[in-house]
Amino acid sequence: MRLLVIEDDPLIARSLEHALAPLGNTIDVFATCAEARAALRHDRFDLILLDLGLPDGDGLELLAELRGRGDTTPVLILTARDAIDDRVSGLDLGADDYLAKPFSLAELEARVRALLRRSQQRSDNRLRLGRLAFDPETGSASLDEAPLELPRRELLLLEGLLLHAGSITPREILERRLFGFDEVGTNALEVYVSRLRKRLKDSGLRIRTFRGLGYRLEDDAG
Ligand code: CA
Repeated sequence: MRLLVIEDDPLIARSLEHALAPLGNTIDVFATCAEARAALRHDRFDLILLDLGLPDGDGLELLAELRGRGDTTPVLILTARDAIDDRVSGLDLGADDYLAKPFSLAELEARVRALLRRSQQRSDNRLRLGRLAFDPETGSASLDEAPLELPRRELLLLEGLLLHAGSITPREILERRLFGFDEVGTNALEVYVSRLRKRLKDSGLRIRTFRGLGYRLEDDAG
């Protein structure tokens, strides 16, 4: 899932990244309204985490702009616990949920999961390459529409590669997906790559190694 974090406090922004990236999310962080506005003009996100007090404006203005042009991307507002007025106006303007700072990471995760579930009900968000499809909602892969049973880490690996289909997925990103922030040996990732390669043997897809950089999932047919 692709998340946009609009937050000018670097510590909070970093803790959001650390909490949400290992769940398999791609996270873009911006600290100003201007940068966020530019990103929203060019890209689509599955969820926006929005701080209200930003150096060059109010997060509620961004929200109003977004909803004003019919963009229904779920928005989770992050604001100080005592700013109850902000909460009310945020929900009025079409925020989907609200999280008071300081928040626990468990609370954050629960809200984010709920909003992403809602977001995915809006459309078919399956990731596809060649004959392969992956459904991030159910965490299941299929080949020619037939279920492809994979152990958890191979599924995480496959999703990581599919999220970057067409480009190289950096090895650090894959390591973080598979192993979180645990220290792992240099060969740990290769073990899972080679297992997944075997499973994809007759799929028309292959995982190409870019030494020192990462891996790319490629479709032989295309
Ligand atoms: Ca702020």
